[in-house]
Amino acid sequence: MFTSIDPATGAPGQSYRELTGDEIETRLARASAAFRDWRVTDYATRTALLARIAEQFDANTHRLAEIATREMGKTLKSAIAEVEKCAAGFRHYAQEGPAMLEPRQFQGATATWHPMGPVLAVMPWNFPYWQVVRFLAPTIMAGNVGLLKHASNVQGVAAAIEEMVIAAGAPAGLFQNLPIKSDKVAALIADDRIVAVTLTGSEGAGMKVAEAAGRALKKVVLELGGSDPFIVMPSADLDLAAKTAVTARIQNTGQSCICAKRMIVHADVYDAFLEKFSAGMRAVVAGDPMDAATDMGPLSSEAQLQTVLDQLQMFREAGAKLMFGGEPLPGKGAYLSAGILVDVPADHAVAHEEVFGPVAMLFKADDIDAAIGLANAVPFGLGSSVWTNDPAERARFERDIEAGMIAVNAMLASKPDAPFGGIKRSGHGRELGPYGLHEFMNLKTVIG
Ligand code: NAP
Repeated sequence: MFTSIDPATGAPGQSYRELTGDEIETRLARASAAFRDWRVTDYATRTALLARIAEQFDANTHRLAEIATREMGKTLKSAIAEVEKCAAGFRHYAQEGPAMLEPRQFQGATATWHPMGPVLAVMPWNFPYWQVVRFLAPTIMAGNVGLLKHASNVQGVAAAIEEMVIAAGAPAGLFQNLPIKSDKVAALIADDRIVAVTLTGSEGAGMKVAEAAGRALKKVVLELGGSDPFIVMPSADLDLAAKTAVTARIQNTGQSCICAKRMIVHADVYDAFLEKFSAGMRAVVAGDPMDAATDMGPLSSEAQLQTVLDQLQMFREAGAKLMFGGEPLPGKGAYLSAGILVDVPADHAVAHEEVFGPVAMLFKADDIDAAIGLANAVPFGLGSSVWTNDPAERARFERDIEAGMIAVNAMLASKPDAPFGGIKRSGHGRELGPYGLHEFMNLKTVIG
């Protein structure tokens, strides 16, 4: 059984039964049969279904958002925004998908896009709707079919997504939720009926899934962790940079792969930035995620809270100083106050850790080379945010930061139309935009 635990109270919620081996087999057979029909549907059929799924998300926004808040603790207002973004994601592919699948002409050849088959998605709990939609909307547009193994703590969300797709009139087997543990994933990847796998999650899970995909010679997209730099140069609007840094660090209680996790500030503006940033971080209101006045809910579970507390202990042992925050709140729930770490030894292994909680690392850089050096000094390469009004500095950052994404004078956020993904140990492949649609398609070259 999977039992949801409300991280705001520790109270158990609904339970969900794990599928038996026979039930998994039935769903695989159904996916395979569904693909035979869906692969030959015309684009109008696919876009109409995507539009109807968007309508289902719109019609159930509040109920869906509440399930996520109860299961993983995000504020209800952010859960509502996530569900709305999902509807926008489905609509994006409904509107733009056909144009993305236009054949490409070359001298003497034409390249045409074709579906590949059932795709398995292994997804995390932090944006429990949006992570799935990033895979599901392009899957439907491509003419593929989808199977979801969602994180164990968000099985209510997983069931709700399946419910929305069925209510929109999708054919049986087009999208199926598989309530299973992660030890069942390798066998699924090895199954001949699965053609590819996409995983969003930790490096550890990424390695296991990539290994299984490698053994089966199947394509894999990996969206893994990040420890994004947020670089502030003297020409930046400091007030806006500091305010945005707070939002970027505490969004989703610090549990976003593209949260700004390492603030790297030019020495000339370090003190001024620190004053503004620390005032903002101290003012963050942590509390009941259902309350509209709350900035930040609990972490997703007691286990996640313990992971962050253990990391903070490692930082202290390495010589870093916790200026304030990073403290569990009294009473029930997996709450942690927002905090700032300074004097982090940049070359110590602990500085390479992804902190999945609302505590920022703050570094001082003497010049742009030092800032870029610090930004690139971690094994990850997911996102980044740079703050400068100097065009030459901007060009340096765009060229030299080792990341899949860079936001200039803005907080990095995913958008349905912008390619999303990382390099280095943050994974490979892209989601969203046309590239996310093409990842699991056969680009067939026709000559003559
Ligand atoms: P996680 O433990 O890796 O879990 C993610 C998914 O992988 C879950 O469904 C999990 O199932 C499954 N899983 C875990 N171990 C597995 C294994 N050995 N084989 C197959 N599946 C396995 O990650 P998390 O702690 O939930 O999520 C946080 C991480 O995800 C962070 O590192 C974060 O940066 C990253 N993330 C990346 C992106 C991105 O787009 N790059 C977006 C969001 C999050 P169970 O729940 O059943 O264990």
